[in-house]
Amino acid sequence: MYNIGGYNEAKTLAEAVTMLAESPQRKLIAGGTDILVKMQHQPVVEQELLSIRKLTELKKIEKREDGTLVLGALVTFTQIANEPILQESVPALVDAAISMGGPQIRNMATLGGNVCNGATSADSASTLFVLNARLHLQSAEGKRVIPIREFYLGPGKVDLKKGEILTEIHIAPEDYRGFSGYYLKFAMRKAMDIATLGVSVACKVKDGRFDEVRIGLGVAGPTPLRCTEAEAYAQGKMMTAEVFAEIARRALTSTHARTSWRASKEYREHLVEELTQRALKVALHRAGGVYHV
Ligand SMILES: Cc1cc2nc3c(=O)[nH]c(=O)nc-3n(C[C@H](O)[C@H](O)[C@H](O)COP(=O)(O)OP(=O)(O)OC[C@H]3O[C@@H](n4cnc5c(N)ncnc54)[C@H](O)[C@@H]3O)c2cc1C
Repeated sequence: MYNIGGYNEAKTLAEAVTMLAESPQRKLIAGGTDILVKMQHQPVVEQELLSIRKLTELKKIEKREDGTLVLGALVTFTQIANEPILQESVPALVDAAISMGGPQIRNMATLGGNVCNGATSADSASTLFVLNARLHLQSAEGKRVIPIREFYLGPGKVDLKKGEILTEIHIAPEDYRGFSGYYLKFAMRKAMDIATLGVSVACKVKDGRFDEVRIGLGVAGPTPLRCTEAEAYAQGKMMTAEVFAEIARRALTSTHARTSWRASKEYREHLVEELTQRALKVALHRAGGVYHV
């Protein structure tokens, strides 16, 4: 049962910000694919909804002159999957978009909703961590920018202040240029399933060695995370089986996996070791590097 205590639709961002400031108890709805499910399962007392679906200014994907990629918060996963700029620049984000839900969900679900929902299983999140994405937020008080790694506070909890709207997600050129990447989702079913583990990897190769490796994990802890110890170890290493195995072992040191009905802690840790290596092999292949058995 839905208990919707009111529904308003903003036509512009300025209008949405004002309407939220006037009635901070209003809850934003974008695609509605998370919030409506939540409202059905845990009936909220007379939840008033403010729809931002019509804000065309938040539906754009662009590459600025300085190379910064800008994705509006209302960009859908279908848009991401079909966007040539992203296919060329950030293929791992496209992998993540394609792995997400089914066609109907991808048509409705927004990138902003995926991030603001605060789930560690959000398919876009580990890749946005790897890309050092910066979130642009706006409220009646003004604007603020926050790195995505500081935005996630705990399970389902993000640093969204009262009256704030996520407007854009920015990716700086130095965080994608020269990198190849890959997102690997492991779930019990091939489609329409939430990740048991999500691994996003980016790498740069120079003179037959790793110049830089970045590893982001989803569902390996209460929030998405980066495997900083493994990343530091990988720098300058040859691409041998031993190095891959050691990177994967060190990736485990950053995780806080737990047992849930989907998988045990031990199984998730096994997945971290195995899938980090598999994802890195694909990223390396995309970078034109050679894996030495
Ligand atoms: C059948 C099904 C399958 C799914 N499969 C997957 C999957 O495979 N992978 C995955 O990651 N997710 C999956 N999901 C979850 C969901 O589709 C995504 O998390 C989606 O991206 C949420 O976006 P939305 O626009 O629908 O968000 P909404 O439901 O509209 O909002 C989600 C939350 O974010 C807030 N919010 C939304 N936009 C903003 C904004 N711009 N600023 C501030 N707050 C905002 C809302 O207030 C709400 O709290 C699935 C859901 C369903 C129903």
